[in-house]
Amino acid sequence: MKYDYLIVGAGLFGAVCANELKKQGKKILVIDKRGHIAGNIYTEQIEGINVHEYGAHIFHTSNKDVWQYINKFAEFNNYINSPVARYKNELYNLPFNMNTFTKLWRDVFTPDDAKKRIEEEKKDGFTETPKNLEEQAINLVGRTIYEKLIKGYTEKQWGKSCTELPAFIIKRLPVRFTFNNNYFNDRYQGIPIGGYTKMIEKMLDGVEVKLNCNMLDNKEEFLSQAEKVIYTGPIDEYFDFCYGPLEYRSVRFETEVLDKENYQGNAVVNYTSRDEPYTRMIEHKHFEFTECPKTVISKEYSSTWKKGDEPYYPVNDEKNNALYEKYKALGEQQKNIYFGGRLGQYKYYDMDKVIVAAFEMLKNLK
Ligand code: UDP
Repeated sequence: MKYDYLIVGAGLFGAVCANELKKQGKKILVIDKRGHIAGNIYTEQIEGINVHEYGAHIFHTSNKDVWQYINKFAEFNNYINSPVARYKNELYNLPFNMNTFTKLWRDVFTPDDAKKRIEEEKKDGFTETPKNLEEQAINLVGRTIYEKLIKGYTEKQWGKSCTELPAFIIKRLPVRFTFNNNYFNDRYQGIPIGGYTKMIEKMLDGVEVKLNCNMLDNKEEFLSQAEKVIYTGPIDEYFDFCYGPLEYRSVRFETEVLDKENYQGNAVVNYTSRDEPYTRMIEHKHFEFTECPKTVISKEYSSTWKKGDEPYYPVNDEKNNALYEKYKALGEQQKNIYFGGRLGQYKYYDMDKVIVAAFEMLKNLK
């Protein structure tokens, strides 16, 4: 065998595995079907600005080990994600906090006022055991916030009615009775200075990498080259969709360079009404506080994934999770092949969870 390990996919999961296995002295080949490393956290310089080509990525974690680990590969800045939501001609701070509540309701001044108001709002639609995202959202923040800041955004993002979506998706969002616009509750947060691509480059330092190389074009040939394979592509595609395709959401970006210094004053603005077809507008320079005369913005459009598109989000509802379990069982029957990452494990992982999952897999390699 030419290699101890073939790692399919040069994204974060693959790069963590490659870096660790390299330290163990293993001979590794990393391949990626794209023409660049870093998977969906790939950043590219345009006009001196690091552009998040596949959507905004903000590193955040409460896991000190993970934070210390990732800091070995990049210096992180002090960026704190504080998105703004635009609903028609109104602007609100996210996540849902005292800034949001006091702007929505002009007679709310204190946390007690806000709690009282939300309790009243909840009466319209409260359910004992919420079964879907709509019920969960109304139980959490009441009808007005649901209608203005959740419903349109969520239905655009997932392409389904909130009554058909699992409740867990909305649990990602904090609700706070303080004037704190930090989108995350995590202890550590930031953006790698110089971009994510540079960070992954450092992780892959000294590892053989082949780009524009799709394992599935030549599966048997690749399998014969390595003792073990770590596969981070979509698990259903690996098995030729034999049980039928898993559902994913895909995202399309319209990126423009503008001849002005500051377009929207914030890295992320969410468009929460159905009036605009896009879900978010990203102004990349604000992630790294880049000072330059131009700016780069991306409008983010969400769409149903079909064969040939890039999968971004697994749709972790009951039906798809059950289908994934069948693929997972099939994966476990294969000798010497391991599936990892958002696509290989069909999980809506954040970056810190990807790192934890990669270490977990490395521990269990037989
Ligand atoms: N969400 C929303 N309004 C917003 C932002 C988020 O209703 O302005 C909901 C939506 O259902 C979304 C979920 O919260 O799917 C999680 O959002 P998050 O920003 O964590 O998603 P990601 O950044 O991973 O796309």
